[in-house]
Amino acid sequence: MPESPYVMLSVDAALRLVLAHASRLTPVRLPLRALGGRALAEDIVSAEAIPPFAAAAKDGYAVIAADGPGWRRLVGEQMAGYVGNERVTPGAVVRITTGAPLPPGADAVVMVEQTQEQAGLVEIQTGVAPLADVRPPGIDLEVGQRVLSQGQRLGPAEIGLLASLGLPDALVFPAPRVAVLSTGDELRSPGETLAPGQIRDSNRFSLMAAVQEAGGEPLDLGIARDRQGDLEACIRDGLLAADTLVTSGGVSMGQLDLLKPLLEMQGTVHFGRVNMKPGKPLTFATIADKPVFALPGFPVSSLVAFELFVRPALLQMQGRADLARLQVAVRLTHAVHHDPQRWEFVRAVVRREGDALIATTTGSQSSGRLLSMVGANALLQLAPAGSGTLPAGALVSALLLNSNSPR
Ligand code: AMP
Ligand code: MG
Repeated sequence: MPESPYVMLSVDAALRLVLAHASRLTPVRLPLRALGGRALAEDIVSAEAIPPFAAAAKDGYAVIAADGPGWRRLVGEQMAGYVGNERVTPGAVVRITTGAPLPPGADAVVMVEQTQEQAGLVEIQTGVAPLADVRPPGIDLEVGQRVLSQGQRLGPAEIGLLASLGLPDALVFPAPRVAVLSTGDELRSPGETLAPGQIRDSNRFSLMAAVQEAGGEPLDLGIARDRQGDLEACIRDGLLAADTLVTSGGVSMGQLDLLKPLLEMQGTVHFGRVNMKPGKPLTFATIADKPVFALPGFPVSSLVAFELFVRPALLQMQGRADLARLQVAVRLTHAVHHDPQRWEFVRAVVRREGDALIATTTGSQSSGRLLSMVGANALLQLAPAGSGTLPAGALVSALLLNSNSPR
């Protein structure tokens, strides 16, 4: 077998190189409704207090706590959204709704369930502590507090917080545009008729979906034939239109694996082999400072390589501070064979059993078998060591691919 001219890098070293070449994109200011999933390019400091005034936390009556239980005179009404001028004096109460400003003189609210109202009088049926059911100004958020930081992903709560502070927009990193190209003479798109020897292109669609899940905007470059001219044109078009390019296929040791030499000609290849399974021929280059990921052709290899290298790069390009998946210790429910020479990333379903997390692998781990990835919520990271067999009950490290759990 011919030897690859590329040094075999460790997964860690390869990831460091990738991240060193995945620069953050230029921030843009977007309105609130367009912020979902974007990461902040600025810190947010509150210029307003929440709540801005002492507010009732319940529907009921604004009272003077020291008055205690007993019958009181109803002297007015205070609705949310209005400021009344009815003063609460000893022996008097004001009817109040949740969110309404506490009227002057009052220092507590008694909820309606602990009262009864009759002919202009209100019976307070409970002892009352000062500030009971009152949200003092700034109790949730003070002026000058840093509430969100650069790099933080904006989800529903974060966007709600921006809105509650009166901010109509925020400075965020844009979604990276990611051109996705399949390579191979054997590939046809779903919907086309297959001639003998041909197979369907699945990588383009799985990778575009992976781009989307990682917050990127996929651009479909189609299929390039295993010919230098075709590949060259696709790479050029892709890099013109996108911030980064992801290809699959054409990076192993076959005579039509043309991508590595082509990337060498057009830019800089930073590595061409990684000590992992699946995904060993993963190749990373930059062309005019844009990252190019030439992923292996086998469907599972390309997805695992995407997960370990492209995803963190895309997150970094979109300014995210949290690049890594959560890693947890899981217990194997059965013996697992793995490669004793390379780090192996085994697809598994992790679930909770009592206080422990347990992992069951998804069957045959062949790198062409997409079913090994279907339904997996974790990658077990198995270190190259020993005989290559881990017994049932062994504790191993898992990268959680999402935080949902099967039933
Ligand atoms: P290659 O790295 O080009 O030699 O491809 C390795 C294996 O992956 C071959 O069996 C290819 O047919 C298969 N393959 C390559 N690209 C794709 C793709 N886009 N979709 C499905 N299988 C692919
Ligand atoms: Mg090929």
